[in-house]
Amino acid sequence: MCTLRLILCKSNIYKPNPKENRPINARFFVFLWPCLNNYLICRVIVFSQLQFRQNTILIMIDQSIFQNKTASYYTLGCKLNFAETSAIGRQLLQAGVTRARKGQKADICVINTCSVTELADKKGRQAIRKVIQENSDAFVVVTGCYAQLKPEDVAAIEGVDLVLGAEQKLDVVKYIDDLHKKDKSEVVTSKTHRIRSFVPSVSADDRTRYFLKVQDGCDYFCSFCTIPFARGRSRNGSIEDLVKQAHQVVEEGGKEIVLTGVNIGDFGHTTKENFIDLLKALDEVEGIERYRISSIEPNLLTDEIIDFVASSKRFAPHFHMPLQAGSDAVLKLMKRKYDTALFRHKVEKIKKALPHAFIGVDVIVGVRGETDTYFEESLEFIRSIDFSQLHVFTYSERPGTQALQIDYAVDPKTKHARSKALLDLSDERLRQFYASQQGETRKVLFEHTKRGQRMHGFTENYVKLYADYDPLLINRILDVKVGAYDEDEMAMNAEF
Ligand code: SF4
Repeated sequence: MCTLRLILCKSNIYKPNPKENRPINARFFVFLWPCLNNYLICRVIVFSQLQFRQNTILIMIDQSIFQNKTASYYTLGCKLNFAETSAIGRQLLQAGVTRARKGQKADICVINTCSVTELADKKGRQAIRKVIQENSDAFVVVTGCYAQLKPEDVAAIEGVDLVLGAEQKLDVVKYIDDLHKKDKSEVVTSKTHRIRSFVPSVSADDRTRYFLKVQDGCDYFCSFCTIPFARGRSRNGSIEDLVKQAHQVVEEGGKEIVLTGVNIGDFGHTTKENFIDLLKALDEVEGIERYRISSIEPNLLTDEIIDFVASSKRFAPHFHMPLQAGSDAVLKLMKRKYDTALFRHKVEKIKKALPHAFIGVDVIVGVRGETDTYFEESLEFIRSIDFSQLHVFTYSERPGTQALQIDYAVDPKTKHARSKALLDLSDERLRQFYASQQGETRKVLFEHTKRGQRMHGFTENYVKLYADYDPLLINRILDVKVGAYDEDEMAMNAEF
């Protein structure tokens, strides 16, 4: 017996032609008939442009177009994007689309882009062109931050059929009505400030570590950053739903989950919950052996969270905080919400509660306003704190950001020299941290590895260890002695 279900969603549709680039404010009614063999067939109708109510049209989606089709996925940028691409893949799989094998031409290609720097935009364009060249008959969908920020630029690339913005990203199936190549790409985006939806997503990195999206968007508007324009305001899943996702990971055999988001410490905006309660609820999920908090703003990493991690059953002694600059004057120009004194306190608090904790720190070099004196101040501050590794980013100008109003710009050569100075410092500290762990017995999760290659895993405090290939080690957490430093791998050797 068939059941009729009605799903209502709302979206603004934009056409690529600038003259038509205005929302038609459509409401989609999608009728889904679960039919024979559990195939979901959405044979939806011929009501073209039917006025149902004012500003409302009825659009029918035929899911049979997806049967026996294959798709390939390309992701640029952060772990959040990877988690979301994985959610898109699951959605298409439910509609009948299987993943194309390596080297096989796909019927649908989905490219999930990033726009964190100018270089990311460029890489996005290159990736789109390459995918189109290799899959000339495929229906090409481009989404992600670059598609949200520059939809017209993406639509102008020959061979792109559909451009979806941040709000539409996790509803790909709804926006494909046939798989024929289009003469002109269709663009569907929403104004960023209107983005409210949150679809939890989880992905497995190399089928070992899982990345669980707990939060999206950001309300901070740091002066150099375009992320709030690309991903919208801060929003999150409910603790209940996220715990369900963690149970799902257990069912799939996952042992470790990394919590991801844009500004995860800000968790709770939409559900009136808070981040520490999420951590406490996840800590109770039997079967997950450990969690990591991917990156958290220092002002949102409360002492209570640090104490909780220190006493928790499953949270790893591993923190990652964006410092961005070690000069208070530059932090002010960046409109960051903390100063160096607060950052120092957080590092000291972590090290007091968890002396063996790994602390990763993000730094941006060459932002507008970073004079030689400020950079020296920054370097001195960074040297004075007990971090384990730096992630160094070189500032690139982003249209529409407040930072462009700052007069002093750093030349490329100086940016390069500053980046090198910090990377050298990072290498030195990482070696020191690894050396401090030599001889300790730690818990290592060995990751999926191609047969015959050396395999690696990470300790709870994020020391990378290499071992000879042994399939029995894969996806198991084992007590392993941290051996000597391996110069070639820039990691430690595992001793059993
Ligand atoms: S906290 Fe600042 S840098 Fe981070 S996403 Fe938000 S605006 Fe961007």
